[in-house]
Amino acid sequence: MTTIKLHNTRTRAKEDFVPISADNVRMYVCGPTVYDRAHLGNARPVVVFDVLYRLLRHVYGADQVTYVRNFTDVDDKINATALARQKAGAEGTLEQLVQERSDETIGWYLHDMGALGALEPDEMPRATQYIAQMVAMIEDLIAKGHAYAAERHVLFAVDSWKEHYGALSGRSVDDMIAGARVEVAPYKRNPMDFVLWKPSTDELPGWDSPWGRGRPGWHIECSAMSYELLGESFDIHGGGNDLMFPHHENEIAQSKCAHPHGEFARYWLHNEMLQVEGKKMSKSLGNFFTVHDLLEQGVPGEVIRFVFLQTHYRKPMDWTEKKAREAEATLRKWRAQTAGIEPAASAAPAVVAALSDDLNTAGALAELHRLAADGDAASLLAGAQLLGLLSQEMGAWADTASVDLSSHADRLSDARASAMQSKDFSEVDRLKAAYVAAGLEVRMSKDGVELVPGTGFDAAKLEGV
Ligand SMILES: [Zn+2]
Repeated sequence: MTTIKLHNTRTRAKEDFVPISADNVRMYVCGPTVYDRAHLGNARPVVVFDVLYRLLRHVYGADQVTYVRNFTDVDDKINATALARQKAGAEGTLEQLVQERSDETIGWYLHDMGALGALEPDEMPRATQYIAQMVAMIEDLIAKGHAYAAERHVLFAVDSWKEHYGALSGRSVDDMIAGARVEVAPYKRNPMDFVLWKPSTDELPGWDSPWGRGRPGWHIECSAMSYELLGESFDIHGGGNDLMFPHHENEIAQSKCAHPHGEFARYWLHNEMLQVEGKKMSKSLGNFFTVHDLLEQGVPGEVIRFVFLQTHYRKPMDWTEKKAREAEATLRKWRAQTAGIEPAASAAPAVVAALSDDLNTAGALAELHRLAADGDAASLLAGAQLLGLLSQEMGAWADTASVDLSSHADRLSDARASAMQSKDFSEVDRLKAAYVAAGLEVRMSKDGVELVPGTGFDAAKLEGV
C-alpha cells in the first residue's frame, strides 16, 4: 500500500501517515462561518483538503474515509443580516430569519465549491444542530475543573492546562499574555481564559442552558462536533494557518481536557494563505473578490482549481490573471487531447507518489505535463481526475469541439475582403463585436483571421451570429 507522508504541525516534521484504523480514516476540517459568499482565500483550504480526501480515498478506498467539515451558523454577522431583514419587514421570527440566511449562504457555498470540483464531505454538521452536545461538554469541563461560570459566561481555565496550552503553535501562556491583545474582562481568572458560553440579548438567537439563555463560543463547536462524529481520537485535523492560534489551540485544550484518554487529532495540517497579484487580499486594496465573482466573470472553476494546485499548500499562493490564462490554455489542450478517451485503470504511480509526498500538487501537475508530452492520453486523464481535474461535469466551459470556429473565421475574412472594396466596414464591426461578446479573441492580420477562445468563451453565444 502507498505510504502517504504528511507534514504534521504538531511535531513540525514530515511523518508517515498511519491511520488509527485503515478501514475508517477520519479527517476533520474547520469549515466556514456562513454569513456571506466565500472569497477566493476561503476556497484554498477547500481545494487543499479535497485533494487530500481524494488521495486518502484512492489509497484506503472510498468507503473507508470519513471527512467532516462544519458550518458555523452561530455568528454576529448572520444575526445582523437577519435583524436588518426583520426591521425591513421580513416575516418570521428572528430564529427563522437567521436560519434562512444560513441556508442561503450554505447553498451558495456548496455551489461555488462544487464549481471548483470539491467533493462534498461525508458530514457537514451545522453548529446550531449540536448545541445540546456543546452544553454537555461544557458541563463536563466544569465538573473536571477546567472551566468555570461567571456572570452568565462560562470560561475555559487556561491555568488548568497551562503546561500544554500553546504547544501546537509553539507559544507559552506567559508569552501569550505578555504579547497578546487579549480581551480583559473582570470575570476572567486569567486574561487568556476563553469563552465557552456567553449570554444572548433579546435581539440575538439563544438557547437555554444551566447558565441562562445564551449561545456557544466558536471554539467549542468544533470540539463537540468532531467528538460526536469522529470520536475522541481521529486521524487528521485541517484548516488554514490563521486558525492555528487561538482556534485550534483552544479546540485541543477543550477536547483533551474533556476526553483525557483520547488523542484528539494526531496529524495537524495547515495551509498557507492566498494573495492576489502579490498583495494581501483586502477590501481596502480593492483586490477583494469572491469565488462567485470569478465564476461570473467567466473564469471556469476548473481553471481556479488548476491555479491553486500549482502552489504547495504550505507556501503562500499568489492568484494572478496571467496564471489563470495559462491554466486555461493548458486545460483546453489537455481536454482536446483526452476527448473520447477512457481513463487508464489507475492513476500513474508517479502522480500518486508526488501527492503522497505531503501533497506535492505541483509535482503531480509536472507529471501530467510529462504524460501529455508523451501522448499518453489515458494516463493523463486518470492522473488529472485523481487531482479533481478533467472531469466530465467540469468541462462544459471547454466544450468547443462542436463549434466550427474556422467557418466563423472565414466569414469574418470574407466580410473584410468585401469591405475593402465597398469601404463599408459595418458588417466586419458587427461580426467582431459578436465574437468578442462570445469570449473569443479576434486576431486579424494580413495572413488571415484567427478566433481564439479566451476566458469565459461561451459557444452558445455564437448561435445566430
Ligand atoms: Zn474548528
